[in-house]
Amino acid sequence: MSDTLENLQKMQAIDRQKDALQQKILKRKREKDRLREEKERLEAELLSLKHALDKARLALARKELELKEVEERWATTKSKLYSGEITSSKELAQWEKSMKKLEETKDSLENEILAEMENVENLQKEFQRKGQEVTEKGTLIAQQIEVKENEIATLEAELAVLEKEWQGITSLIPPEILAYYMELRKKFQDAVVSLLGEVCQGCYLSVPTIVAKAVRRREGLVRCPNCGRFLC
Ligand SMILES: [Zn+2]
Repeated sequence: MSDTLENLQKMQAIDRQKDALQQKILKRKREKDRLREEKERLEAELLSLKHALDKARLALARKELELKEVEERWATTKSKLYSGEITSSKELAQWEKSMKKLEETKDSLENEILAEMENVENLQKEFQRKGQEVTEKGTLIAQQIEVKENEIATLEAELAVLEKEWQGITSLIPPEILAYYMELRKKFQDAVVSLLGEVCQGCYLSVPTIVAKAVRRREGLVRCPNCGRFLC
């Protein structure tokens, strides 16, 4: 029976190492997720700048087309006005009025185009700057992700070795004791605890003297009557 106790202790030692490794793996995975999110955020920022730039370019092209149309109408109006075909002063005044209106529209469109050109230029600079940032940071982040992935792979390999060792010990422990150990592990971090004097080091309550004696004499597997943990 003391062999079983020894095996339980070995198993517990492996379980502790497994827990520590799993914690480390989880931590690396979270760090990797954060890096990936950061990379995605940067890429999304670049994409939204690209959309804004496309939109501004389209708006500029529309305004330029509009200006071209107005200029054509203005030219037609002008040639009509100076063609000598219009003789009525009333009609002449109307043509002059519409020409003036076209000139106003032309001026305001030209101003709008200048503003839009500036907007496109600024967005283009911003897009280039962001593009460079995404490339530089993206490369760095990709490298960091790779480091994390390698670390995770190493830790998982270590875990697999422990798992094999753990499986090997399970075959040495009677099934009902193993089942009980597993139940204890769900409740407590340690299923096997030492006895200090007559005090269980799991629940810190005293056990009856007879129990303490049995533990000291290694008389089979002894459990704490309070918390149920195996005592050693
Ligand atoms: Zn106890």
